[in-house]
Order: sequence, then structure tokens, then C-alpha cells
Amino acid sequence: MSLLDRAIVRLLPAVPKPVVQLFSSRYIAGPTLADAVEVVRRLNAGGKLATIDVLGEEIAREEEARAIAQAYRDVFAAIDRHGLDCNVSVKLTALGLGLSYELCRENLESVVREAASHGNFVRIDMEDSSTTDDTLRLYRELREAGHDNVGVVLQAYLRRTLGDVRALADLRPNVRLCKGIYVEPPSLAYTDAEAVRASFVRALDALLDAGAYVGIATHDEWLIGEALRLVSRYGLGRDGYELQMLLGVREERADELVAEGHRLRVYVPFGEHWYGYSLRRLQENPAMAGTIARATAGRVLRLVR
Ligand SMILES: Cc1cc2nc3c(=O)[nH]c(=O)nc-3n(C[C@H](O)[C@H](O)[C@H](O)COP(=O)(O)OP(=O)(O)OC[C@H]3O[C@@H](n4cnc5c(N)ncnc54)[C@H](O)[C@@H]3O)c2cc1C
Repeated sequence: MSLLDRAIVRLLPAVPKPVVQLFSSRYIAGPTLADAVEVVRRLNAGGKLATIDVLGEEIAREEEARAIAQAYRDVFAAIDRHGLDCNVSVKLTALGLGLSYELCRENLESVVREAASHGNFVRIDMEDSSTTDDTLRLYRELREAGHDNVGVVLQAYLRRTLGDVRALADLRPNVRLCKGIYVEPPSLAYTDAEAVRASFVRALDALLDAGAYVGIATHDEWLIGEALRLVSRYGLGRDGYELQMLLGVREERADELVAEGHRLRVYVPFGEHWYGYSLRRLQENPAMAGTIARATAGRVLRLVR
């Protein structure tokens, strides 16, 4: 995206919520668990795996965090009931990290235990850099407490990530590797697109070298190519890694990758707290700057007429 396009998409928070909701509906299964089940059923029928995210990052009270943990327990029951090939992704702020570390740990552990009782798996998403240390600490605590059905996310744009790979290596971690989406200062994160790509490849190489199972989460064609070259250099078969994409993004490419024989998991968010997630997706849609510019120009023209 050009600098101008990036400046335009940063104006998205000024766009009325109903308009944001309209543009972002392709990225979200819907408000209810039944909506998510329907989407996952369709994905599974097309040979894709899924991971369900209960949207909830804007929560502010302990009861809300506990309700999100309960919602995840309901998700596992639904996955079993409908025979879906699907795990879950959780955001620690939705489980109360912003309120207290202990509350979050309690909620996360309850979700991980419930997952284990269903033979299922929990991925801890990575949020902005103020949460990185706590997220990695919680991941280590859970693994050291004997929970093996849990994985974490590392963000290639963070300068610290290669160090985090090395620090996690003793756990033979299960890691989703992505570029990273939050706005971070240059002191913490690479801002140049090529530097982020290079960091992604370095981190993936280091993870595979450490024997990690990696969910390679990108829609970037160049990175997909590099990643597939790396997994083949490490001699990994179909079950040794997976590709991951977001609901509503590059779906035809996902179909091709599945047809080529790769395991591919789609991230399926659902729930009432759709706003923050939607803004991030729209901000990284390359077509969005033009859409906003046209919509704004249309409004201005109507005003001056
Ligand atoms: C499964 C999954 C889980 C993720 N989890 C996290 C997480 O826990 N923490 C975190 O910080 N980030 C997460 N991300 C987001 C990630 O960090 C990136 O912001 C996002 O994937 C875009 O980067 P990219 O590698 O696809 O490359 P980009 O260069 O952004 O995109 C490559 C191409 O994909 C297409 N594309 C990408 N996004 C869109 C869109 N919204 N709409 C339409 N087309 C699009 C465009 O054609 C674009 O040129 C996750 C991403 C995925 C796929």
C-alpha cells in the first residue's frame, strides 16, 4: 500500500459503524455460534480446517471475560456435536488480561482444560506489544504445567521475534507465525515491508530448525512461496506444518493450495464484538483506500451540489 493509501485507511475509525459493518461482513461469520458452525461446515466440506475466534477484545469487566471463556466452552461442544475439524483461537484481552493476569490465567486454563477434554487445541493469538511478555509467560506456564494442547503466535514485524523463537525452543512450541497487525513504534517493529518479509523467513527457518510445528499465516504470495520452499527443504510432509488464512481473504488461492495437497486452516471470527477486528481487516485490504476515497468524494460532491 502506498503512503497515501495508508493515510486514507487510518481514517477508517471516522467512518460510521454501520458502514464499517457492511464492508467487513465478509471477514466475520456472523453474530452467533450457529453462524460460525455453518461457515466451518462449508470450509470443512471444501477440505479446509478452521479455527474459531469468539470476538471479545473490547471487554471491560470480569463477568464479560468469564462469559467469553464460557462461550469457548460452548464452541467445543458445538465442534463435537457437528463433527467439525476445527480448533479455537483466543485473545488474552478477551479473557481478561487487561483486568488482571491471574483472572486471565484462570480463564485461559479453563478453556485449555475443556479443549483437552474434547481432544481439541487452543491457539493464543498475539495482540499489541504491551501484551507480548505476558502472553509468552502464560504460554510457558501452561506448557510447564503439562498442557500440551496449546500454541502461541509470533509476529515477524517485531524485532524481538527471533529471540523469542530461541527462548521458546526448549518447549518445541506449536507456533502460528504471522506478520503482525498492530501499530507499533519503529523501535519495536520493522516498518519496511521487505524487512518484515525477511524477518518472517528468518523466524520460520529458526522455528523449523527447533522442531516446532508452524502454522504459516500469510496471504502474501512471495512469502507463501518462500515458506513452501523452506518446509520442503526441512523434508516436512503434509502433517508437519499448516498454512493459515483469514476468512474472506484470498479464498480462491486457498482452494488452490488445498488442491495442491497442503493443510490449510481458516480463521473464523464470530460474535457481537466485531468492530476492532473489522477495522484491522479493512485497514489491510488493498482495495479499501480507493473505496473510502470514492465514498468520501461522493459525499463531498453531494454537499457542494
Ligand atoms: C490465520 C491468521 C491469524 C492471524 N493472527 C494474528 C495474530 O494473532 N496477531 C497479529 O498481530 N496478526 C495476526 N494475523 C494478521 C497478520 O499479522 C497480518 O496482518 C495479515 O495476515 C496480513 O498480512 P499478510 O501476511 O497476509 O500480507 P499482506 O501483504 O498484508 O497481504 C498480502 C495480500 O493478501 C491480500 N489481503 C491481505 N489482507 C487482506 C484483507 N483484509 N482484505 C483483502 N485482501 C487482503 C491482498 O491481496 C494482499 O496484497 C493473522 C493472520 C492470519 C492469516
